[in-house]
Amino acid sequence: MKPKKINIVTLGCSKNLVDSQVLAGQLQKNNIELLHDSNDLSARTVVINTCGFILDAKQESIDNILSFAEEKRAGNIDHLFVMGCLSERYKDALRKEMPEVDEFFGVNNLREIIEILDADYKKELLGERQLTNPGHYAYLKISEGCDRSCSFCAIPLIRGKHISKPIEKIISEANYLASIGVKELILIAQDLTYYGIDIYKKQALAELLLELDKIESIEWIRLHYAYPTSFPTDILPIMRLSSKICNYLDIPFQHINSRILADMKRNIDKENTLQLIKKFRKEIPGIALRTTILVGFPGETVEDFEELKEFVKETRFDRLGVFTYSEEDDTHAAIHLKDDVPEKEKQRRADEIMLLQQDISLEINTEKIGRTFKVIIDRREGDQVIGRTEFDSVEVDNEVVIEDPSASIQIGNFYKVEIIDATEFDLIGIWNYD
Ligand code: SF4
Repeated sequence: MKPKKINIVTLGCSKNLVDSQVLAGQLQKNNIELLHDSNDLSARTVVINTCGFILDAKQESIDNILSFAEEKRAGNIDHLFVMGCLSERYKDALRKEMPEVDEFFGVNNLREIIEILDADYKKELLGERQLTNPGHYAYLKISEGCDRSCSFCAIPLIRGKHISKPIEKIISEANYLASIGVKELILIAQDLTYYGIDIYKKQALAELLLELDKIESIEWIRLHYAYPTSFPTDILPIMRLSSKICNYLDIPFQHINSRILADMKRNIDKENTLQLIKKFRKEIPGIALRTTILVGFPGETVEDFEELKEFVKETRFDRLGVFTYSEEDDTHAAIHLKDDVPEKEKQRRADEIMLLQQDISLEINTEKIGRTFKVIIDRREGDQVIGRTEFDSVEVDNEVVIEDPSASIQIGNFYKVEIIDATEFDLIGIWNYD
């Protein structure tokens, strides 16, 4: 019987969040009330959208399934469904281990999930969804899957081959998002820079950006998950000349040592990595670079790690995240390389990189004191509002904290803010009414 209320629990990355939002949009049109990531057991049907990226993420997914399985055994919920990356990969094993789960789905089973929930698939909703984040920004997924073969990564095994969404579909989705009040579009994919190769036989991110740039009420367009090899440099002048495309680029480099990069099957070496970063900073002065670093990869020596530290010190990334290598089933690295760096040492290296980055981030933030920036307001906390500059993406980067005792400031609006102080990961600002 069609449930009246469903709780969708979303784990993992922004791509998973978009999948949950699409499902929520469909269920909402079937007059089903929705909760998100809730412990509120008044929703007696629960759908968990899992992540299967790395060990920690898998464990978090399993813990969530087990806790709701417990609720089901206790009679507090009636139905439990699991979807997403972990389920895509380990459906059969999970089914044996977790009989409380009514059904397991993969990453491309929207219609099947809607059907089992006794709802109707609404074809007319293509490109529409229910935003579960504050309504002034939205993730825009431009493709699915990945054709790269990074030796540590299981995503191609989970999400399959790279499939670009046609430009017209992306533009209609972006217009829909703009029509419901979205001002900031955050472009995501497994590999953003590969966009178009499958359907247009060439990299088409530049064309897509020029089209998105025309959408009037969109004020910011942000790029995440770029890939360094054969980077489409034709987007750089478009980014520089556009008043909407943020001078911000998220591009995971993972490492800098050429031997490690080769073993990671990243198809780029140290020299070309450094050249690419130089080009970014020459073509777009002041661009904020976010990257991800992977430490403890098989064969990473102390000298390799020292080289990586030097790279982080020299490059001074504006934003940086670090992961420790975890052996993922059936990946090239898991099959062919020995996971020889002890877990403790992996963690020590990750901590050392983050300490380095903390100092760099403080220096970069301190350089912003006295300058005025356009800031979007994300939320209110007591007498303060919290926002971001164009150099900061949601949830992963720095924030701007501003006193607003008058509560006159609107969430989702842009304001001019002068920076008066800085910490490692935050900026302190005051309103600039000039
Ligand atoms: S680009 Fe590499 S790391 Fe990223 S999803 Fe594809 S295979 Fe994984």
